[in-house]
Amino acid sequence: MWRGLAHAVIVRSEVMSRAIDVMHMGRDRVICAHEIDGLIVDPGPTTGLDTLLEGLGGVEPRALLLTHIHLDHAGGSGKLVERFPELTVYVHERGAPHLVDPEQLLGSARQLYGEDMDRLWGEVVPVPERNVRALAGGETIEGDLRVEYTPGHASHHVTYLSQSTGEAFVGDVAGVRIPPVDHVLPPTPPPDIDLEAWEKSLRTLERLGPRALCLTHFGRVEDVEGHIARVREGLARQGERSRAHGEEAFVQAVEADIRAAAGGDEEMAERFRQAAPPNQLYLGLERYWRKRAEEEGAAVGEGQGLRAPATRP
Ligand SMILES: [Zn+2]
Repeated sequence: MWRGLAHAVIVRSEVMSRAIDVMHMGRDRVICAHEIDGLIVDPGPTTGLDTLLEGLGGVEPRALLLTHIHLDHAGGSGKLVERFPELTVYVHERGAPHLVDPEQLLGSARQLYGEDMDRLWGEVVPVPERNVRALAGGETIEGDLRVEYTPGHASHHVTYLSQSTGEAFVGDVAGVRIPPVDHVLPPTPPPDIDLEAWEKSLRTLERLGPRALCLTHFGRVEDVEGHIARVREGLARQGERSRAHGEEAFVQAVEADIRAAAGGDEEMAERFRQAAPPNQLYLGLERYWRKRAEEEGAAVGEGQGLRAPATRP
C-alpha cells in the first residue's frame, strides 16, 4: 500500500518537458523552447513568438526561465510579458539589468548582425523590473528546478536541473547539435567567451549527472556523457584553431566540419550555420585570447614593476 502511494506521488511529480520548435526564419531544428507544465525555458526571439504560442496550444505560460539573455534565447521575453503581464522572468543577476534596459545588449547584437537584426530577431522591448527574479545560482525555484551558474558561453549563463525528471536545461553550454547528427559545434560568439569557465561549467553538468540534456539548438540528448565529451573536444579544437589561425582559415575549418557532419545535406549544414554563424565563433574566441593576453601582460608588468606589452599568444 505505502509503496504504491509513494510510487503514485513520484509519477505525479514527473512532468517531462517538451520541445517546441519556434521555426526560426521558417527553418526547423534551429531554435526550440522547452516547456515544463507552463514553465518556458528560453522562449526564443520575438520572430518565433507566434509559433511558440501556437505550440503551447492554449497553455498559459507561468514563468520564463532564461538560461541567458542572447536574443536567440530570450529576445521575445519583453513581448511575452506585454501579452502576459503576470509572467515571472528568471535570469542570472548579471543578465537582469540588460533585460530591464536592453540598449547595451542591442548595441552589441547590432555589431554582430547589422542590417539583419530586425529580420532575425524582431522587436526587443524591455522586461519590467517587477517581473524579473534575479538568480545567483544555487537556488531551487518553482519547487523543482535547481539553478546552477554555468558561465563560459556567457558570463551570466545558468542551467536549470529538474530534480524530479533529471532533465537539465543547458541553453548553449552544451553546444549546438542538430538531430539526428551527433556533431557538436560549440557556440563561441562575442563578447564574453571564457574557455576556463566553460570547462568548469561542463564539470558542473557532469556532477549534476542529468538523465538528459535539453539544448536550445536543438532538442533532447540522452547520451549525456558522450555529448559532453564532444562539447569538450569541440571547444579544444576551436580554441586551438582560433589561436593558431586567422579568421579565414578558422571559418574554412569550421565549414569543413559542418559539411562533413551534414554529409551532403545542405539544409542540415544551414541549420548549424544559422544557430552558430562560423565567423562569429572566431570573433568570440579572438576576443577571449586577446583579453587573456592583456591580463597576463598586466600581471607580468605588475610583477616586474613595469607594464609588459600585451601580445597575442
Ligand atoms: Zn547564446
